[in-house]
Amino acid sequence: MSTALRAVRGMNDILPAQTPLWQHFEAIVRKWLAAYGYREIRTPILEHTGLFQRAIGEVTDIVEKEMYTFIDELNGESLTLRPEGTASGVRAVIEHNLLFDGGKRLWYMGPMFRHERPQKGRYRQFHQVGVEALGYAGPDLDIEHLLMTARLWRMLGIAEHIRLEINTLGGAESRARHRQKLIAYFEARQEALDEDARRRLYSNPLRILDTKNPAMQALVAAAPRLMDELDDAALQHFDALRQGLEEAGIAYRINPRLVRGLDYYNYTVFEWVTDRLGAQGTVCAGGRYDGLVEQLGGRPAPACGFALGIERVLALLTDAGQRYEEPAPDAYIVHVGEAAARFARLVGERLRDAGLKVVSHGGGGSFKAQMKKADASLARYAILLGEDEAAAGEVSLKPLRAAGEQQRLGLDTAVDVLKTLAR
Ligand code: ATP
Ligand code: MG
Repeated sequence: MSTALRAVRGMNDILPAQTPLWQHFEAIVRKWLAAYGYREIRTPILEHTGLFQRAIGEVTDIVEKEMYTFIDELNGESLTLRPEGTASGVRAVIEHNLLFDGGKRLWYMGPMFRHERPQKGRYRQFHQVGVEALGYAGPDLDIEHLLMTARLWRMLGIAEHIRLEINTLGGAESRARHRQKLIAYFEARQEALDEDARRRLYSNPLRILDTKNPAMQALVAAAPRLMDELDDAALQHFDALRQGLEEAGIAYRINPRLVRGLDYYNYTVFEWVTDRLGAQGTVCAGGRYDGLVEQLGGRPAPACGFALGIERVLALLTDAGQRYEEPAPDAYIVHVGEAAARFARLVGERLRDAGLKVVSHGGGGSFKAQMKKADASLARYAILLGEDEAAAGEVSLKPLRAAGEQQRLGLDTAVDVLKTLAR
């Protein structure tokens, strides 16, 4: 025997026992997004590598070490499996000039790819739902996104397990000022920096603040704060955001160290976090990225958005004790013999025409073996077809979940009876 093939490490199969949970989530998500007037955009999973380098930033975890990048051997192009959705969404909006008649509210859902160390809540193929509002400057869209996400947690029944952290990164000038101060601060303490931090000192010092290295926490905690450099416009935007949250009764904590792993953010950044998933506690993250459209070659347009990690949200649902199963069939057709098999196809289609969910036994076998399958299917009724029934054009209906006699009925009557019972 040859060795069995396995899925790529960190990339999961989602099996039939798990798909009802995913479908439950996806149905709620679609309802939720429609309620706010967001429209779906679907972009390719592969993009030119340059898109992500330009959008996410060269000196970020994602671009430095997490991207699945390869050369298309047929034409020599460098391509990358999308590690996130914002870059592709903005690329498509520019390419198709979607902002020609004003702002757009968009969403997407699908797989993302990052070469990370697989662990609970961290995979190499994972799934996100993302929302982007392009062409809107105000803090009103930032607030809308926080109201929206808060509503989603309520719709999913996990609101009590998630809390909101917000921060502001200010505008370009305050970031430049803060950057100079940070570099000076870390330069004076070179010996305390780890390798990552030394590498980022001049290229992306803000990201040093995001370090997970315990040995650097004290150093980072005492570093110059961006908050102290904010200009009036940034402060006003942030105050309006806070006021909007307070008016809506959404609790939040300001986390001055929240900087996010992607370069394109300015002003608002936020994360919804939980304590129930161990180290992988960020369930949803986003903020404002006013410079990105222009940076990717479009006419300047302000924008903000967020993405949530579906696996982490589903882990919270499961952790909260929610379970979902495929609804059982209304009927399971048991049929023995050639004529009965032919009749079973006709009966099955008639019942499905009537809107019923019907499983017809496959693969033959004795009456007894088929009845076992009927029982295991959790169907409410078995429909028994033998040579007799086939010849008469009738069916025998047997309740499986409740007491009751087996009945022999004409096909039309059986359809009516099942239709009434299934309601
Ligand atoms: P983290 O700090 O956990 O690495 P991130 O800042 O890299 O997250 P984003 O790029 O903001 O994450 O992605 C948004 C969300 O997507 C995250 O909050 C998380 O829920 C989810 N996510 C990101 N990377 C992964 C992954 N490798 N596996 C599963 N979910 C992920
Ligand atoms: Mg990450």
